[in-house]
Amino acid sequence: MATILDGKALASEIRGDVALKVSELSQKYGRAPHLAVILVGEDPASQVYVRNKAIACEKAGIRNTTVNMPESTPEAELLAEIGRLNKADDVDGILVQLPLPGHICEDKVIEAIDKEKDVDGFHPLNVAGLWQKTPHIEPCTPMGVMMLLDAYNIDPKGKRAVVVGRSKIVGLPVAKMLLDRNATVTLCHTRTVNLADEVRRAEILIAAAGRPRMITGDMIAPGAVVIDVGINRDPQTGKLCGDVDFDTAAEKASAITPVPGGVGPMTIACLLLNTLRCFQRRLGDL
Ligand code: NDP
Repeated sequence: MATILDGKALASEIRGDVALKVSELSQKYGRAPHLAVILVGEDPASQVYVRNKAIACEKAGIRNTTVNMPESTPEAELLAEIGRLNKADDVDGILVQLPLPGHICEDKVIEAIDKEKDVDGFHPLNVAGLWQKTPHIEPCTPMGVMMLLDAYNIDPKGKRAVVVGRSKIVGLPVAKMLLDRNATVTLCHTRTVNLADEVRRAEILIAAAGRPRMITGDMIAPGAVVIDVGINRDPQTGKLCGDVDFDTAAEKASAITPVPGGVGPMTIACLLLNTLRCFQRRLGDL
């Protein structure tokens, strides 16, 4: 039976460590790290994500401000709000919840965030830092994946890693991080000719396609490590599920993340870590 890579437990450990450091630094500097989250519109899923981030901040002693803006907010107004938060001395991290309403250009918005406060790691200069190996803020989900591998002593060096999905926020950065750790990386996408064959070659599989249970046990090599980033609704039951069919994959894998309780909690823990690090960098205490 596969080892369960328990993201929930590891995330809880990280959150505990962050809380300790936040408490120490809050006493030393007379204020806590401060994360500002902007939510434009009333998308129910985004509201849940923003609320969960606020709760996680609160538990870690990180100050959180949520800026709610109406769906009809003009792009210029959002950019002005970001400008205000960039200048605010007591704001250490800024996160704009995506997706944004269609009339707002996401790239423009991300670019407007001060790269030193870009806790999501999406700013072009932080992305460039990842690809050029210069100092940068890492995107939370790929960072969480790598921390999970490290926590279970899974070394990507020399392994065949297959990443399914090439999005800017998950697939591409996680592939680069695996490459930097000396894995031999294959990136798959919708035009990959024989996905099953590619996946079967994986010693480490990262599934980030957003397709419920697309990867089944027959596609998993015996002993593979399976990291399921997908968060989907099962079309039949309406319950949360990953991109991997957990039960059949767990019969073949040596280690596997559950959904929920795998990568998801790690993403939030990494957001807290990034906020703490932004705070420390701004104070020259890192
Ligand atoms: P995107 O929709 O931006 O990207 C999906 C990628 O998967 C694309 O590159 C797409 O290929 C590829 N893809 C889709 N269908 C297939 C298929 N049938 N075969 C091969 N490749 C396919 O998604 P995200 O990267 O934003 O998210 C992926 C999943 O991860 C989602 O379920 C999302 O909810 C989840 N997620 C989870 C997080 C967490 O904290 N655990 C955080 C972020 C996302 P192409 O480029 O050719 O279109």
